[in-house]
Amino acid sequence: MKSLDAYRDEVQVRAVFDQLARVITREWTLMEVCGGQTHSIMRFGIDQLLPKQIDLVHGPGCPVCVTPLELIDKALVIAARPNVIFTSFGDMLRVPGSTTDLFQVKARGGDVRILYSPLDALRIARDNPSKQVVFFGVGFETTAPANGMAVFQAKREALKNFSMLVSHVRVPPAITALMSDPANRVQAFLAAGHVCAVMGYWEYEPLAAQFRVPMIVTGFEPLDIANGILAAVRQLEQGRVEVENAYPRAVTREGNQPAQALIAQVFEVCDRKWRGIGEIPQSGWRLRDEFREYDAEQRFDVGSLHVNESPLCISGLVLQGRKKPNECVAFGKQCTPAKPLGATMVSSEGACAAYYRYARHTFAVVG
Ligand code: SF4
Repeated sequence: MKSLDAYRDEVQVRAVFDQLARVITREWTLMEVCGGQTHSIMRFGIDQLLPKQIDLVHGPGCPVCVTPLELIDKALVIAARPNVIFTSFGDMLRVPGSTTDLFQVKARGGDVRILYSPLDALRIARDNPSKQVVFFGVGFETTAPANGMAVFQAKREALKNFSMLVSHVRVPPAITALMSDPANRVQAFLAAGHVCAVMGYWEYEPLAAQFRVPMIVTGFEPLDIANGILAAVRQLEQGRVEVENAYPRAVTREGNQPAQALIAQVFEVCDRKWRGIGEIPQSGWRLRDEFREYDAEQRFDVGSLHVNESPLCISGLVLQGRKKPNECVAFGKQCTPAKPLGATMVSSEGACAAYYRYARHTFAVVG
C-alpha cells in the first residue's frame, strides 16, 4: 500500500487528467455520491483541473444533510427533557431544526454531549442509571455496523436506560430514485469507497444494468478521485456499463460480511424520508422488533411535529445534483457556516459547506 502522500501527488494526479483529456470527446455529467468526496474535490481543486466537458455534480451522500427535519425536531424535544443525556456526533449539534438546534438546547441547560463512538453512549448509560441516555444514530451503511453493535450490546447487558434515535439511510435506493427522476442528468456515478468497504459493490450491479449507468467505486484522495473520473469517462466513451472497483485497497465485491450480518441482525429495511428530497422507498433501516425497546422514538413517544424549513434553502436540489451551492440565492449571504439555513451548510460532508470553505471566492454569488 502506498503512503497517503502518494495519493496526493500532484504530478500523478495531473498525469491522470492528461489521460482524461485525451480520452474525452464530448460532454458528460458525473455524480460523486459522497459528501466526503465533494469536500476532497473542492479542497484539492479537482474541479478546477477537470476538462470543461465534465460537469461533476454532487450527490445525496451526506448523512447529516439528509436526516429528516422531523427527526431533528424530535431530537430537540427529547434532548430538552430534564432526565435525558442526549449524545451525538458533533456535526448534528449545529444542524438547524424548525426553530433551533442542539447547541441551543445545550446552551439552555440540556445535557447534550458530543461522542466519537456510539459505544461511549453505553458507558454513559452504565455510569448514569437514573438518566435516560439517547444516541442519535445517523448515517449511511458506514456507521450502521457500529450503531448496530451499540444496540446489540445494550440488549445483551439488559441496559434499560439506553436508546437510539435512528436515522439510517441506504445508498442503492437513493440511486434508484435519482435515476428514475425525469429530471435526472447523471450519466455515471462515483460510488463512495467507505460505503462499499462495508457493503461491497454487488448491490450496485443490478442498478448499473437497469439504468445503463457506469458506477465506479472510488476513494477519497485526489488520485483516487481522478482515477474514478477517468474510469467513468472511459466507460462512457466506449459505451460500456460496468461496476468497476477503482478503490481495491479498501473494497472487495463482497464487502465486510460480518458487518453486513450484524446490520441484518439488528436492523430491517424501511421506507425513509430524506431531508429536502422526500420519502424514498426501502431507503432506510430501523430497529427490528426484537430491538425496538431501544428505539428512542418508541421510548419517548414524541409523536409527529409540525416542521418548518427555510423557504430560501434549495439543499434538496443540491443533494440531487440539480443545483450547485453557489446557485442558491442565500449562499454566503443569509446562509453561512456560522448562521446556516440548511444542513448542507453545516455538515463536514455538506456540499454548501465545501463550496463555502474552499471556493466561496471563486464563484459569483447569485442574486
Ligand atoms: S447555501 Fe444554505 S440556504 Fe442555500 S442550499 Fe445551501 S444550506 Fe440551503
